[in-house]
Amino acid sequence: MKSSTERICLDHITIVLQRPRFPENIGAAARAMRNMGIRRMIVVEPENYELSRVLKMATHVAADVVQEIRIAQDLRAALSPFHMVVGTTARLGGEREVVQSPSRIAGRLVSLSRENTIAIVFGPEDRGLSNEDLRLCHELVNIPTDEFSSLNLAQAVMVICYELYTAGGGGPLTEPNTPRLATRHELDGMYDQLRDILVRINYINPENPDYWMNKIRRFFTRLQLKAGEVSIIRGICRQIDWYGKKNHADGRQAKE
Ligand code: SAH
Repeated sequence: MKSSTERICLDHITIVLQRPRFPENIGAAARAMRNMGIRRMIVVEPENYELSRVLKMATHVAADVVQEIRIAQDLRAALSPFHMVVGTTARLGGEREVVQSPSRIAGRLVSLSRENTIAIVFGPEDRGLSNEDLRLCHELVNIPTDEFSSLNLAQAVMVICYELYTAGGGGPLTEPNTPRLATRHELDGMYDQLRDILVRINYINPENPDYWMNKIRRFFTRLQLKAGEVSIIRGICRQIDWYGKKNHADGRQAKE
């Protein structure tokens, strides 16, 4: 194993299960996490959280991970404190066109994990993450498979946790000044404000704002915005808003 400074900061990693259907999968995922030294788990709107069934698959060793599971009611709210959100998907194409391999993403997270908290999100067993869920993710990761692409949920958690645990061997570890990224909460506030102002100035069509917002999200996601940069964009939105209202008021006064 590499020295501790080169490895990913496992304490900054949280596994998030969105609407899992089977308690056994939650338990097996907790066990996989424990194998790989990851302890934080959030379970959002589980269909059935029968503790005895969760614990059976977790085994007594991972019972501590299970005990500390946070149950949440809403994915967006659950993800809002994180600086980096990675979604996992078995399906490709459409809004899932830009995907990374597990080892690549794990390599990139090594330096980011020093200063930033990271959530890795897994979808429900039957349908996977919805397009709406995917919009909350900065990056998407796909585990390459043969033609049958859908892994069991807990096995998918295992593959990703393994990659995270073993990451850091040889990548560019010591990127200077690893940034503290904007949190999901800060970004969501910025996107809401941007959508609002861009609809009002007729830059995007109010009938289908998501179409353009998705492009704008992808563009900003590539930039990995810091908190201060989010403030700049929000300040610009505020100023456009102020300017528009002022001109409107000036125009009305001139007519009177
Ligand atoms: N039938 C669903 C798959 C659900 S499997 C679909 O086609 O999307 C449950 C979850 O396990 C997925 O939402 C994803 O989080 C993870 N998963 C399963 N297979 C995966 C793969 N090949 N790559 C990445 N994640 C995968």
